[in-house]
Amino acid sequence: MSGPGEFELIRDFFAARFQGSAPEAGVVLGIGDDCALLTPPAGKTLATSVDTLVAGVHFPATADPYRIASRALRVNLSDLAAMNAQPLWFTLALTLPESNADWLAGFAEGLADTAKRFDVQLVGGDTTKGPLAITIQVTGACDRPLRRDGASAGDSVFVSNRLGAAAAALPIVLGEVGGSEIQRQQMDASYYFPEPQFTVASAIGGYASAALDISDGLLADLAHICEASGLGAELDLNQVPVAELAQTMSGDQARTVAVTGGDDYQLCFTVPQQHLPALNVLNLPITCIGTMTRERGIRCTLDGEPWTHAQPGYRHF
Ligand code: ADP
Ligand code: MG
Repeated sequence: MSGPGEFELIRDFFAARFQGSAPEAGVVLGIGDDCALLTPPAGKTLATSVDTLVAGVHFPATADPYRIASRALRVNLSDLAAMNAQPLWFTLALTLPESNADWLAGFAEGLADTAKRFDVQLVGGDTTKGPLAITIQVTGACDRPLRRDGASAGDSVFVSNRLGAAAAALPIVLGEVGGSEIQRQQMDASYYFPEPQFTVASAIGGYASAALDISDGLLADLAHICEASGLGAELDLNQVPVAELAQTMSGDQARTVAVTGGDDYQLCFTVPQQHLPALNVLNLPITCIGTMTRERGIRCTLDGEPWTHAQPGYRHF
């Protein structure tokens, strides 16, 4: 049995669920015309970003569609959080191998729940046939953007929360290992429901000199701050907060997963020394793990000894 045609699909699963206009959110005209018409908030700078999730690369093709939608929107929102931007709107380009009403219902529900949770409006998209892939473009507004190129030598390097949960979860997500019930729940949460760090980002907005979200692994992503800022970094790996899910591994493996594993969507950011006292009193879930240096490259120590790693972050090519 074939599912809805292109126009029914757009109407029933997307236009019907997401209001045509939301004047309070700056949406003059949403889904249904050649373009959406949007009014940016007065005096703000717009931040925009796009990410594609490909079945078999970014999620298993057979994954629950509700979870695929959640992950697709959350990883995009994480880029806005990393820039200290508040979400406004998003568009969705959906490539589907077939029109399947059950799959679409699950996907649209996951998308709607996630959009509601983060107060972001779906304003348009595109629907095509082909191997399953989801492209989301998000737009947000910011006052104090957190860029990658603002760090100075001597700034402290921080990460939010804990690292390694998503990478530790991956073998369970892929069904390579079974895992206990509690591990499966943690895996589900960390892989399909990563938390864009809006609260931390807005709290550090006035203090941080550079920031990004960790999508490819701490070492690979911190290297982007180093490159953009023309610096290097020294990290004390004993300070890196390791996620509970990764702590079931051996100490060495857990640390490797925490510093090289991707998909956590925690923030890595730098803070000038003079702002540390003000930041400390905020009691944020953040940990200082090192210092930016004039000397290029990232040097890691563990128990005071140099530590090297074999695996770089994930690369498509
Ligand atoms: P056009 O041919 O002018 O590009 P489309 O037929 O692709 O228009 O889309 C019609 C309307 O539906 C547009 O407003 C577009 O933004 C919206 N749309 C198409 N696919 C989606 C989707 N997957 N999610 C949300 N809106 C969509
Ligand atoms: Mg089109």
